[in-house]
Amino acid sequence: MSDTSQPHSDSADAPAAERRRLRVAVIGAGPAGIYASDLLINNQDHDVQVDLFEKMPAPFGLIRYGVAPDHPRIKGIVKSLHRVLDKEGIRLIANVEIGKDITLDELQDYYDAVVISTGATKDRDFDLPGADAEGVHGAAEFVGFYDGNPLFERDWDLSAKNVAVIGVGNVGLDASRILAKSAEELHVTEIPDNVYEALKRNQAEKIHVFGRRGPAQTKFTPQELKELDHSENVHVIVDPEDIDYDEASETARANAKATDQVCQILEGYAMRDEDPSKRTLQIHLFESPVEVLTNDGKVVGLRTERTELDGTGQVRGTGTTTDWPVEAIYTAIGYRSDVLPGLPFDDQLGVIPNDGGHVLANAGGEAITGVYVTGWIKRGPIGLIGNTKSDAKQTTDMLFADVAKLSTPEHSDPDAILALLESRDVTVTTWDGWYRLDEAERAAGEAEGRERKKFVEWDEMVDAATAQ
Ligand SMILES: Cc1cc2nc3c(=O)[nH]c(=O)nc-3n(C[C@H](O)[C@H](O)[C@H](O)COP(=O)(O)OP(=O)(O)OC[C@H]3O[C@@H](n4cnc5c(N)ncnc54)[C@H](O)[C@@H]3O)c2cc1C
Repeated sequence: MSDTSQPHSDSADAPAAERRRLRVAVIGAGPAGIYASDLLINNQDHDVQVDLFEKMPAPFGLIRYGVAPDHPRIKGIVKSLHRVLDKEGIRLIANVEIGKDITLDELQDYYDAVVISTGATKDRDFDLPGADAEGVHGAAEFVGFYDGNPLFERDWDLSAKNVAVIGVGNVGLDASRILAKSAEELHVTEIPDNVYEALKRNQAEKIHVFGRRGPAQTKFTPQELKELDHSENVHVIVDPEDIDYDEASETARANAKATDQVCQILEGYAMRDEDPSKRTLQIHLFESPVEVLTNDGKVVGLRTERTELDGTGQVRGTGTTTDWPVEAIYTAIGYRSDVLPGLPFDDQLGVIPNDGGHVLANAGGEAITGVYVTGWIKRGPIGLIGNTKSDAKQTTDMLFADVAKLSTPEHSDPDAILALLESRDVTVTTWDGWYRLDEAERAAGEAEGRERKKFVEWDEMVDAATAQ
């Protein structure tokens, strides 16, 4: 990292004419990076220019490559982020991976400060016995496939009739809903052709979703849990034996409306009988996965141990196990962030060590001046898109408080960074390029009476974004 330059002499107290422009690189154009960019350029005290770097040819992070295709309402958040990226003062430099196309050290020669918002794309490790068997998939892999992320598989084996999904959060719901819905239901969304073709071959008859604890301890949000049942082809059930509360659960219900709503919805599902005319999605509670059962290296079942509440909202094992015959298992036990070369990484928490915004040299160590972090890479892969906004505020406030300490970068010409990337044969895609790609995807969808059809090949995206 460069420290050859002089500290800033300007501060919020200096007259505007004397203040020089602060140039900030934000790395990762997901919601956290976009909200941070907005806060940076909109502040009253400093003149800020943001370059927003993104490794994919398109912006929006997990809104494009995480949020399920049958959640267009959520994808609508893109509209407000669009308005941010339309603003002068933010320049999108996409199709550029920090750590590969340009190092963080090099970047610091061009900017007064760097904000890292690289999010998360991978699955957390799943280490049950048998977990490496054929047929065990991480939900993030499946999400990457059905959301048309060019870095993930183009085809998916959906021949399993009985499927287990491990994890009782919204990602588990997304994966099970996509497995349960018909290909035709999903064809109206933006899914690419390869995903539609794979879904047409989906043999799933019963999807079992497993959670270790009880109704009050699930991580579902009420709207997503309710919506699971909105498909004509899907029948959601819960075994009445799986509805149980201890004192801590009752307190959790009384203290949080959302928890209570989730419990009520689960209780509603527990009143139903099976409906053999539809794909069944059964949510099992108090079942802790203990082993993947295999034959010849392939999944043939999942063994779970029955648990019971211990009065504090935690559970203990009862020693009673059940073997569920399933041919595929999806683990939705959480996402994990990638290491960013040149910076420390807290393996335990899966984040860049930080004190609420400043990047630290190591967990509990000194702050690295001029380097900040926001979003999932800052606090771990939990929370909704909206949560990244307050997060970004905390981080950008820290950056502004440090202005007097920031070093002046070696290169002041805003085009110098583009020249460097060009000299390395890196094809940059821009915000104007997103408009072109967006239009091309919409045109491809309209031809089939759909709002959009996503492009899945990297080159196809870059070609559309850079078309003259
Ligand atoms: C499957 C799934 C479904 C979800 N559904 C919902 C939902 O319905 N509603 C909701 O509110 N929230 C949902 N979320 C949560 C939401 O997606 C996150 O809260 C939010 O995306 C986190 O924002 P972020 O900007 O921190 O990370 P991300 O969205 O991951 O953005 C990080 C960006 O950084 C880029 N990047 C990474 N490394 C580099 C690098 N080295 N150089 C340059 N760029 C880089 C990535 O390509 C990405 O664009 C869902 C999450 C998942 C995983």
